[in-house]
Amino acid sequence: MNRFQSARSLFEQRSFFKIVCGAGNEDPVEVRRLTTVYTLAGASGIDLSADPGIVKSAVAGIADAGVLAEKLGRHITCRPFITVSVGLAGDPHIRKARINPETCIQCSLCKDVCEQEAVDLVFHIREEWCIGCGKCADVCEKGAISFFTHRKDLAALLPECLAAGAEMIELHAVTLDDEAVLKDWTLINSLVPDNYISICLDRSLLSDSHLTQRIRDAQAIAGERMIVQADGAPMSGGSDDFHTTLQAIATADIVAKSKIPVKILASGGTNAKTMELAELCGVKVHGVSIGTFARKLVRQHIASDEFDHDARIVQQAVEIAEILVRQTTHSKEI
Ligand code: SF4
Ligand code: SF4
Repeated sequence: MNRFQSARSLFEQRSFFKIVCGAGNEDPVEVRRLTTVYTLAGASGIDLSADPGIVKSAVAGIADAGVLAEKLGRHITCRPFITVSVGLAGDPHIRKARINPETCIQCSLCKDVCEQEAVDLVFHIREEWCIGCGKCADVCEKGAISFFTHRKDLAALLPECLAAGAEMIELHAVTLDDEAVLKDWTLINSLVPDNYISICLDRSLLSDSHLTQRIRDAQAIAGERMIVQADGAPMSGGSDDFHTTLQAIATADIVAKSKIPVKILASGGTNAKTMELAELCGVKVHGVSIGTFARKLVRQHIASDEFDHDARIVQQAVEIAEILVRQTTHSKEI
């Protein structure tokens, strides 16, 4: 079985679990450790910032998992597929927050809500940790937080990411500009001729019919190699309840009902309840992408100074992560 067939098999079993490190997460140590933990826990995919150095960190994390597997008496059933995420200008997944020191009153509200701990003690945002979720700006009463985007040259960057070890590419396409989406999508399709490519869509700007048409146009280019990442409320995860994951399933329902032959991953607000809710609603998804919720579960372990020296810390993190992977991949027939 080649890698495309392996991925297809996981989708057909509806058991594709992707840990999302964050399109804006450029912390190599965190990425490497998260990759190690979730590889050992049975993840089938890792989603990363499109940065060759970060891809190399994930490759190193997979290698670390291989070494630790023997020590911890574990068996890695699948080498995770590395996906790099890119986005169109304006997409929240690729933006970074910035605090204006002139208007900031150092009230700490933003620091308290930042799940990435990206706001430091002097109210400066660490760019490499910020994932652009916008929670800080939502609570700032002084309007002191703005966003900026570094739009990279994809034609130069993506081949470097593939050479470093990425196998799939995901395009975050929260924009009304269909032409720009199809231009990037066509490029991505040409760069990955033999594996899946993914488009991440939500309903923040698009009507249901516009969303469906965009998928139809993209599928005409990618054919059977296409994933739709059905995004609920982007980067809203953290809570483990049906409410938080409802929008992801609602978006997936629209994609499934379109009958366009694509693989569907639920994302955005996904948590341990996502697959259960999909089943209750009769929505056939082929897997889940989980970011904030999955990272938060093992944050303390990942941040430990002893992580690289004490296999018991890794083991504890893997046991926690493994429960999430099992909850979201062992599904009933729909
Ligand atoms: S919430 Fe706004 S005012 Fe308060 S610390 Fe953050 S940026 Fe400054
Ligand atoms: S709350 Fe989100 S957007 Fe704000 S600093 Fe943290 S990660 Fe960045």
